Amino acid sequence: MTDIANRYPQLYELTERLLAAGRLAEHDQQQAVACFDHPALMSIACIGIPSRFNPWETPAFSAVDYTQHLQIIEYLSRIDASAMMLLPGASLGTRAILTLGTEQQQARFFACFAHRPAWTFFAVTEPEVGSDATAISSELTHNAQGWWLNGTKMLIGGAMRASVGIVFARYRHSQRLVMVFPDEIKDAMQRELLDTFGLAGASLTRLSFKNLLIKEEDILGHDSRGLRHGLNSLSMVFERHRPMVAAMALGTTFGLLTALEARHLSGAARSWVARQWRKYHAVFQQMLHLAEGYTAGQHQYALTSQLKLNATRLVEETARHLPHWLNRDDWLEEALLRKRYRDCFAFEYMEGVSNIHLLNSPRPSVIRGDACDDLP
Ligand SMILES: Cc1cc2nc3c(=O)[nH]c(=O)nc-3n(C[C@H](O)[C@H](O)[C@H](O)COP(=O)(O)OP(=O)(O)OC[C@H]3O[C@@H](n4cnc5c(N)ncnc54)[C@H](O)[C@@H]3O)c2cc1C
Repeated sequence: MTDIANRYPQLYELTERLLAAGRLAEHDQQQAVACFDHPALMSIACIGIPSRFNPWETPAFSAVDYTQHLQIIEYLSRIDASAMMLLPGASLGTRAILTLGTEQQQARFFACFAHRPAWTFFAVTEPEVGSDATAISSELTHNAQGWWLNGTKMLIGGAMRASVGIVFARYRHSQRLVMVFPDEIKDAMQRELLDTFGLAGASLTRLSFKNLLIKEEDILGHDSRGLRHGLNSLSMVFERHRPMVAAMALGTTFGLLTALEARHLSGAARSWVARQWRKYHAVFQQMLHLAEGYTAGQHQYALTSQLKLNATRLVEETARHLPHWLNRDDWLEEALLRKRYRDCFAFEYMEGVSNIHLLNSPRPSVIRGDACDDLP
């Protein structure tokens, strides 16, 4: 297997920074973020943002294709996926605006990148109805004074630092994606950092909107018809982003297996590690195959679910064995390993839990006949 670091040797330089950021992210995110002050890292973080909006692009990372991007994410996650998640730059919000936004909306969204790599968020999940996006209660309403957003979002990655975000809200019988700009809002939006068990770098946040006035031009797909609204809009955004969760889970598996190999293990443990490596390589090949399909323009909803399922199961299975294969002192003394162990169980919850993928993956990626298109 060719290693992506052979193609991008700059990746070798980032190990210490990511390790330090991942460690600090557990208790001091401000300091953790300071570790990212490196041109190659910022350029990688902003892969996916079009060059016209991206002053952080460096020549080395200006033409990274989708397959290479997934491999870079996998490679950096071998070091620390939590630190990866703390990076500013491209996110689900970026994919949403590029998929569904007009040129003007894209320019407004990416304006915050002019001075520094910024954070963005994409808010779907709500308390009590996490996996059921149809049951959300955050609402966009319209009256003579304008458009208003009300509601609560929960477990939203990167929102504490974000300069811009996109919120999924109910509008009459369907849903809309709405841009919000935290720096322009005062009391109408509250942000609260949530305590989490793993992947502290995700900086999961609760967001509350109370009578937030929304400009009409900040509603995505406002002038278009049904297919760009409701659950269709979510499917369009998630499909290409979901393999990145698999890449992070795979990279974390690589990190755990490498750490195990560096220690004294029983014969049974060594055979088990060899078996896990074979599974890792099989899922890695599945990821590359999927990436090629996307590059060729195919929709691969079911395969994408399968990849995410395989990668998240593999990382959890590997983590669960860790405390049993290591001797007690190694396990107790290795704070970094125990941190990685905690991170492993958060991947399954990102971009759809396994049960929901198993229920929904046979359906096509874009469902026709969305709820009525009823913007005035
Ligand atoms: C690191 C991380 C980052 C995240 N980032 C974001 C983000 O940026 N934006 C965002 O909007 N959200 C984000 N989330 C939230 C994530 O998408 C939700 O956690 C996910 O949708 C699950 O929702 P929930 O936690 O409410 O669990 P629930 O949906 O309540 O599920 C709880 C359990 O019930 C099971 N279950 C639920 N429904 C069914 C069903 N119909 N049939 C069978 N079993 C079912 C699930 O499998 C699960 O085991 C993030 C989560 C994590 C962990």
